[in-house]
Amino acid sequence: MKTLVANWKMNPQKLAEAEELFEYTIAESAKYPNVKTIICPPFVFIEELSKFLQTTNYKLQTSIGSQNIFWESKGAYTGEISTEMLKNFGVSHVLVGHSDRRYVIGETDEEINKKIKAALLTDITPVLLVGEREGENREEILRKQLSADLAGVSAPHLGKILFAYEPVWAISTNPNAKPDTPENTLKAITFINNLLAISYKLPAISCLYGGSVNEKNIVDFLKHPEISGAVVGGASLRKEEFGKMLNLVSTI
Ligand code: PEP
Repeated sequence: MKTLVANWKMNPQKLAEAEELFEYTIAESAKYPNVKTIICPPFVFIEELSKFLQTTNYKLQTSIGSQNIFWESKGAYTGEISTEMLKNFGVSHVLVGHSDRRYVIGETDEEINKKIKAALLTDITPVLLVGEREGENREEILRKQLSADLAGVSAPHLGKILFAYEPVWAISTNPNAKPDTPENTLKAITFINNLLAISYKLPAISCLYGGSVNEKNIVDFLKHPEISGAVVGGASLRKEEFGKMLNLVSTI
């Protein structure tokens, strides 16, 4: 089963808009039982969207992810939100290591590592995003990020993480963004697999790909069994296009 992770980032602005987008997306998603959709809205909309999801029959195909978490469960951490709090609303996944957080907010690999461990402890699936910036050496960055982000995570726990290869230069909000090629993504996934096999003796995993995925290119990526799904930013806000993407993926 392929997975589409809809990363809404800091959009939309109003609850009514979020509800409309969510309702449309889950109704589309429900048409395709062989595709799993994880919608990651801003924190402030999670409670309402989660209530709505509970009252529909669409729960099986869709779940709610959060775009961030904090690693402590409670206490004097002004402005932060814990995994325990999110569990109250049925949050199933959390994005960790997104490049917006690494490079715009300044999150470190050490913090990413703590977030992964906190998510795993509370049974929320971390979606770990890794990838190089323009001009950086891909293998060097993947090695550095994966070894630091996964430090101290046990092999059985590793199997619960969803890995996503997301080259930063391919993300649609970057000025010269263009999608990666599927061939290049497959090479990155092979590299990630080799690293995990050597360090943790993990059997081969499949990975999500993220970066300017849209209705025109999604099949080219996801037709490969090694690519288990996509992280979709911009196109997840264009509801009709995202609906078409679900349809296309269901036929793979
Ligand atoms: C993202 O930011 O995670 C992303 C994949 O964005 P886009 O699809 O817009 O490139």
